[in-house]
Amino acid sequence: MTDKKVRVRFAPSPTGGLHLGGVRTVLFNYLFAKKHHGDFVLRIEDTDQTRYVEGAEEYILDCLKWCGLQPDESPVVGGPYAPYRQSERKALYREYAERLVMQGHAYYAFDTPEELDKNRKEIPNFQYGQVYRDGLRNSLSLPQHEVDALLDAGTPHVIRIKMPADETISFNDLIRGHVSFETNQVDDKVLLKADGMPTYHLAVVVDDYLMKISHAFRGEEWLPSVPVHLLLWDYLGWKADMPKWAHLPLILKPDGHGKLSKRDGARLGFPVYAMNWFDAKTGELTPGFRELGFLPEAFLNLLATLGWNDGTDQELFTLDELIEKFSLERVSKAGAKFDFEKAKWFNAEWIKKSEAQSLKSDVSTILAEKGIVVTDDAKLLSVINLVKERCVLLPDFYQQAGFFFEQPKTYDLNAVQPKWTDAKVDFFNALTALLNSSAADLEAHSFEEAFKALMEEKALKAGDVMLPFRIMLVGGKFGPHVFDIAAILGRQETISRIAKALDAFSSPA
Ligand code: GLU
Repeated sequence: MTDKKVRVRFAPSPTGGLHLGGVRTVLFNYLFAKKHHGDFVLRIEDTDQTRYVEGAEEYILDCLKWCGLQPDESPVVGGPYAPYRQSERKALYREYAERLVMQGHAYYAFDTPEELDKNRKEIPNFQYGQVYRDGLRNSLSLPQHEVDALLDAGTPHVIRIKMPADETISFNDLIRGHVSFETNQVDDKVLLKADGMPTYHLAVVVDDYLMKISHAFRGEEWLPSVPVHLLLWDYLGWKADMPKWAHLPLILKPDGHGKLSKRDGARLGFPVYAMNWFDAKTGELTPGFRELGFLPEAFLNLLATLGWNDGTDQELFTLDELIEKFSLERVSKAGAKFDFEKAKWFNAEWIKKSEAQSLKSDVSTILAEKGIVVTDDAKLLSVINLVKERCVLLPDFYQQAGFFFEQPKTYDLNAVQPKWTDAKVDFFNALTALLNSSAADLEAHSFEEAFKALMEEKALKAGDVMLPFRIMLVGGKFGPHVFDIAAILGRQETISRIAKALDAFSSPA
């Protein structure tokens, strides 16, 4: 291949939610394209009408948008090679299939689905291919006049590739190196279906050619399809333009035994899909990383490290850094084990790293879902800055930040009541008086000093009053430094919370 412009594609079939491996495929294609100032194309491979699922295409588009991996060309934004939905390109594929028939590389097959079912039942390991094709109803086995008559009569038929006998075909995978296949082991795949739609095999080759795709990176599960594609590129006379392929390593279950599936997620309690997917047919909701509270930056970062590293100890990468550092040479052949604890670590790190401003809208939504409407933007930003290092998933902001905006509804009384004494009541009454003695803004450091001085005066220890004070303000044993909390709550609110809690602590449990 000559030095043509880098053009990559993500070519999903709209059949359901997007597995995290699918998003990693998008990511690696995207990184490579952007690194080489190329184009990233989204092509919807919807030629299998029986597997088409309503809403799946929108889901894919939403998902790319959430991740910030926007295609340069797609069914939505269009582009020079439109249409980008294969069902809308239906008319153009037959010509290529017919060309292959003319050349003797493909043939018409008239067998009905019932006949094929019968063969599958009666013949163990039945394959439509070299061994059985002569005994079946196709243009290789039937006399020409019969074939013509069947075609003239409009008899339903498919077009199949004629796999050559005894050939070894090979290609160079950018990750795996030299890979070869024996043609005897591959059946005569259908290229064009009876409804006139191409199958994946024909459509992927024709479209990668017509759309001038230079590189195609896809999951390892597509490796068995390569021999058919190699032959088609060759037979159609396009071999010089064939994209360079890389088959990405599998994402494995946490124990390393086999591919990570949707079911593993359900069994082990973590998402496997990028975003929630609701299957209208079964009523099943498959949870996603987005709804669990992952930041897209963290999700991409963790996906990048599933099968790739930059050769250093660096683990946190922005998308721009990934574009700069990504290289296929550093993608491993071996499958990458998925580790949910590590995934959460990435998210916690990204929450910490993010500006409060950029977390604001997510946090407001989380609080609003719990009935907390925040009107004071400046306060929300200070709160986010104070608590973000304590949050692993976005919904953690409710526990860590909610109490700044509403008084505790319950208190961890078990932590307070057993050691509750009149001396402590007296201390908090004195603290209230001290707080009332000024109208200035409460400042964390000076308040802490005053608090401690009062503690000494009353001959109490930090262990006696600090925890009760925290529970008065937040309801439980969590949250950031207690004087920082008081400072954000302000003088009046702190006084009010002490008063309310004093009542609760003194009432019988
Ligand atoms: N339509 C295929 C899929 O659903 C695309 C495979 C490829 O990238 O060639 O993943």
